[in-house]
Amino acid sequence: MDPADLVLRYGERVTHVERVPAREAVVEPWPEWVDPAVREMYAADGISTLWGHQAEALHHVHAGRHTVISTGTASGKSLVFQAPALTGLAAGRTGSSLRGNRMPTVLYLAPTKALAADQLRRLAGAAAFARPATVDGDNSREERAWARDHANYLLTNPDTLHHSILPGHARWTRALGGLTHVVVDECHHYRGVFGAHVAHVLRRLRRICAHYGADPTFVLSSATVADPEVFASRLTGLDVVPVTDDASPHAARTIALWEPPIIPGVDPTNPGVVRRSATTEAGELLTDLVIGKVRTLAFVRSRRGAEAVAATAQRRLGEVDPELVRRVATYRGGYLPEERRELEQRLRSGDLLGLASTNALELGIDIAGLDAVITVGFPGTRAALQQQFGRAGRSGRDSIGILVARDDPLDTFLVHHPEALLGAPVEASVFDPDNPYVLGPHLAAAAQEIPLTEDDFAMFGPRTAEGVAALEAAGWLRKRQAGWFWTKRERASDLADIRSSGGSPVQIVDAGTGRLIGTVDGGSADSTVHEGAVYVHQGDVHLVDEYDVEHGVAIVHRADPDYSTMAKSVTEIAVIDTERTEQWGDAAMSFGSVEVVNQVVSYLKRSTSGGGVLGEELLELPARTLQTKAVWWTLAPDAVSAAMEHDDVPGSAHAAEHAAIGLLPLLATCDRWDIGGVSTALHPDTGTMTVFVYDGYPGGAGFAERGYEMAARWLRVTRDAIMACECHDGCPSCVQSPKCGNGNEPLDKAGAVRLLDALLVDAPVTGDH
Ligand SMILES: [Zn+2]
Ligand SMILES: [Zn+2]
Repeated sequence: MDPADLVLRYGERVTHVERVPAREAVVEPWPEWVDPAVREMYAADGISTLWGHQAEALHHVHAGRHTVISTGTASGKSLVFQAPALTGLAAGRTGSSLRGNRMPTVLYLAPTKALAADQLRRLAGAAAFARPATVDGDNSREERAWARDHANYLLTNPDTLHHSILPGHARWTRALGGLTHVVVDECHHYRGVFGAHVAHVLRRLRRICAHYGADPTFVLSSATVADPEVFASRLTGLDVVPVTDDASPHAARTIALWEPPIIPGVDPTNPGVVRRSATTEAGELLTDLVIGKVRTLAFVRSRRGAEAVAATAQRRLGEVDPELVRRVATYRGGYLPEERRELEQRLRSGDLLGLASTNALELGIDIAGLDAVITVGFPGTRAALQQQFGRAGRSGRDSIGILVARDDPLDTFLVHHPEALLGAPVEASVFDPDNPYVLGPHLAAAAQEIPLTEDDFAMFGPRTAEGVAALEAAGWLRKRQAGWFWTKRERASDLADIRSSGGSPVQIVDAGTGRLIGTVDGGSADSTVHEGAVYVHQGDVHLVDEYDVEHGVAIVHRADPDYSTMAKSVTEIAVIDTERTEQWGDAAMSFGSVEVVNQVVSYLKRSTSGGGVLGEELLELPARTLQTKAVWWTLAPDAVSAAMEHDDVPGSAHAAEHAAIGLLPLLATCDRWDIGGVSTALHPDTGTMTVFVYDGYPGGAGFAERGYEMAARWLRVTRDAIMACECHDGCPSCVQSPKCGNGNEPLDKAGAVRLLDALLVDAPVTGDH
């Protein structure tokens, strides 16, 4: 049966259906300059011609232009960097392209070790001229030495480059001095604070290459990154040419958006609308697809969720056709390789018809040959959704992708505004390389690598002189004839933890076994692992016995309480510097530096079976100060009273703040947990009603700035999302927030719409309205 017809039978739950037509390929011949041995290697894999975008990108890379290729999954992006890189190595074999007396080399960077390992496997056919090696934390001493002395194709990650290769560059002279190509694969991962760190790691790499006389061509790749030219240029600090016209063929695909129905008989006004859960819905849909013999993969956010989807399907299949029960399974991280391969094999052969998985499957595991993908809950970015839907569509057969909305403002908005999901370009991957908290440690690391001089300042951006002066004043750098030197014994690169997002991580330790089960960011630990907190780690529920603030350790035990916990906090925010302001009549949008002081003071226990709040426990935790960036909106006092006569102003501002935070991920690749908010009917620094939305990281991460730049569109989308929700007084699909420090009090849904309308009266026109 055609899966699209089957899904349509669900009627009103399906809020939108769209058919993406098949696309014909544009084919081009190989350019002459690609080494025949390299072409033979591809021919052995059945690749004898190129797609149009590959030919275009090869042309740029061969001309030495830094290039970013952004085309769909499975459109052959690796070839674009492999072919020129391997051609360079093949030429080096005959000695025709020696730089000085150095043999050519290639550096490949991936965001994870698994991806680098996957690339290594794909280079197996190039053994005649490439000597590839992965360089990462898993190397033995011998492997590392071999890579240093012999490899000409290094596969690594930004972490290893930052902590090991760059600080030890004197031992990597051969590899770094010979570089012809630097590949930055899956570059959309470098966003937020991590993106800012990687931007500086790449600048340090460029500086060291120049020191050894190498001038490599950078090739960046991503299945989907917004505005690739701007993004790639900002990440590398170089002028980068974009290649975006995907000329690979694909079969037709149907996309369906799905909203779980409201459960009848539950009072819709108190405490909010109760919808059927997205996992139950997905389980039933999976059942029908399996009965229809449609090979289906369901992506679910948590392991528990994935298990629930598979269990629902198995239970219902058991009632219909017991033979089908064993043809549904769950997939999660942590399987042994042979177990993984067996599942992949069963799926490929069609023995397995339904698989519910966490996103563990997203990186490095090969599952092809599916007809349908169900995504339970918007995965955060359109890019991720496209990649998940891209899993379906085996060898030219039509496929279907279904997004099932969870109870969340962004999901609700998207299933009612398909144009924002399917027509729009992907979200901007934003980051801010000028964040002084990120810049400072990299300037220190650069100075330890090679003394810094004023000639280096342009490379590291406009705040470099200020950063160097601060490091000098602190006694970490000292100026001598040749430039600024690092004065300490410690490794300067240890100052920057490029994956951390502020504060030392807190370790979560199992009380019974003493085993470390994970870490949480220092910035969010007070509200997630305080004493008495219910803490969910990869789907497993724990209770926190003890939280040692000083040593950054939380002791937990496995438990199954019938309640969840929600921390309450008091937050004060002060404007330090208003950098930009835009007046919209009585409203004003501003962006600048703020200081946020937050203290977790208590937590609420909430029944998980619908019984509401069970109690509140006090906590004694220190106040935390965060210097960061914020966007804030104000409305003049007269306009507030005129627009909101009968409304609760604090509740309206608070509700608008929650919904806006829930929808910012539509404009920037952040998560609602990356940002915070404060709203008040009267703020001392502005003298009027103000709503602040700030980056939850020291120095900022670029999200608030993006919100400022897109403010009119952002607030319109926020208003539309609140209005579209069918609830009376606010629910998790519109103005309630799972991370509210105030227990979602007060909230005025109707007032929030009037407040946003008043803010938008004189707002600039945006393209989508
Ligand atoms: Zn609602
Ligand atoms: Zn709140």
